[in-house]
Amino acid sequence: MSLHSNQSFWTKTAVSYQVPEQLTESISADVTIIGAGITGLRTALELASVNINVVVIDSHEPGWGASGRTGGQVNPLAHTVPEKVIKQLGDTFGPRMLESYVNSGYELFNLIKKHNIQCDAVQNGWIRGAHSQSSVKDLEEMQKGWAGYGLDISFIEGKKLHNLIGSTAYDVATNVASGGCIQPLSYSRELARVAVAKGAQIFGNSAVKSVSSKGKEWQVITEKGSITSQWVVFCTNGYTDDTLKGLKQTIIPLVSVQAVTRPLTKSEYASILPNGHTLADTRRVIYYSRKDNHDRLLFGSLGMSEHCNGSDKKRLHAGLKTVFPQLTPDDLESYWGGRLAFTEDLLPHIHEPAPGILAGLGYNGRGVAMSTVMGRILSERIIGKKPEDLAIPTTKFKSFSFHRFHKIGVYSAIKAYEMRDAFDIRFR
Ligand SMILES: Cc1cc2nc3c(=O)[nH]c(=O)nc-3n(C[C@H](O)[C@H](O)[C@H](O)COP(=O)(O)OP(=O)(O)OC[C@H]3O[C@@H](n4cnc5c(N)ncnc54)[C@H](O)[C@@H]3O)c2cc1C
Repeated sequence: MSLHSNQSFWTKTAVSYQVPEQLTESISADVTIIGAGITGLRTALELASVNINVVVIDSHEPGWGASGRTGGQVNPLAHTVPEKVIKQLGDTFGPRMLESYVNSGYELFNLIKKHNIQCDAVQNGWIRGAHSQSSVKDLEEMQKGWAGYGLDISFIEGKKLHNLIGSTAYDVATNVASGGCIQPLSYSRELARVAVAKGAQIFGNSAVKSVSSKGKEWQVITEKGSITSQWVVFCTNGYTDDTLKGLKQTIIPLVSVQAVTRPLTKSEYASILPNGHTLADTRRVIYYSRKDNHDRLLFGSLGMSEHCNGSDKKRLHAGLKTVFPQLTPDDLESYWGGRLAFTEDLLPHIHEPAPGILAGLGYNGRGVAMSTVMGRILSERIIGKKPEDLAIPTTKFKSFSFHRFHKIGVYSAIKAYEMRDAFDIRFR
């Protein structure tokens, strides 16, 4: 069974939720948020908590985008070593960015506790396995660098690792203890529930068509209504369109695809990731997996089609056989995909291209924790912090060269990276 791209397996086990109504009139607010994923909903929750009149608009419904389809892995780590982040962002924003990553797992799980968010949260660690000898060196650099900035990251090897994964696919790995997992659609819906309880308004099925200035404020026009507000915040990540000129060109939308197994037998479920760790690896075309809280395993990788096409399925089948050879492709029941946002420096960005217009995006596939952090930071800006005092720098738009041709580029890159992953020297 292939699920339609706006559905994922998570819809089957998520907390129930009444889809918000469409916006059909002209209203005003202090803040309009475009995008009801984790970024937009966390921003709304924080603003509503201090009595700011906030409206969230989504072309579909809360969690429809990546936030409700993701692997739900809480991965508190950037893609590069801390020294590089400092070099990229300098001595003020570099350390702040690192601190944001290091604390991101704790921030998410504390938020869940604070608001009694029902989302099957498990904070038992995130394992990242080395797929080759050269990637062991990468893991060593990352472990040393990030531990130096306070991340609870350590090495696990050999038999101990095999037991924690339920497979001998990797001999060396790091474990970030503050990592873990959530049911991501439940998390998104629950963020929406709490935000509404605090006074936010959310409208679904209301694609934003344009944003234009109206006196000292902004007018957001949707299919059937409009909102006038002092602030407009774009939280559209991999689904960013042309509404805000130039924003789409700052990211490359990459597709990630996933599949879920049939219900596992009790002994299969108990032997795979027995302590509830989440698992990813060092492949350029990553393999990642985790169990749900009931009886299934989810397995993911990068892909080309949000509908998870034939070659995407092949990649998932090959990955499953490599990482969990005790299972077969026939054990996979449904497939889906979604879009994440890749940035040139592999770091998230805040933009403020005009007074009152904000955007926060670019988590490079590790956005469950960082979009939670980003939402808080965006709310701090609106509540009154200056851009220079935020934890993430506010940058000018920087377009990818040849953005128009990104699909060809991504296709070629995935093929090339797959070959490099395959040719990496195996260390055993
Ligand atoms: C398949 C998959 C697996 C992933 N796995 C992981 C993982 O395990 N761990 C991890 O950390 N990260 C993972 N990620 C990345 C993570 O899910 C994202 O970084 C994060 O969810 C982004 O949240 P967001 O709120 O910024 O954007 P999204 O959740 O994508 O929300 C954007 C919203 O904007 C709305 N929108 C866009 N344009 C308009 C418009 N014009 N009008 C109205 N609404 C609009 C869309 O409808 C959408 O709901 C994964 C991503 C995918 C796709």
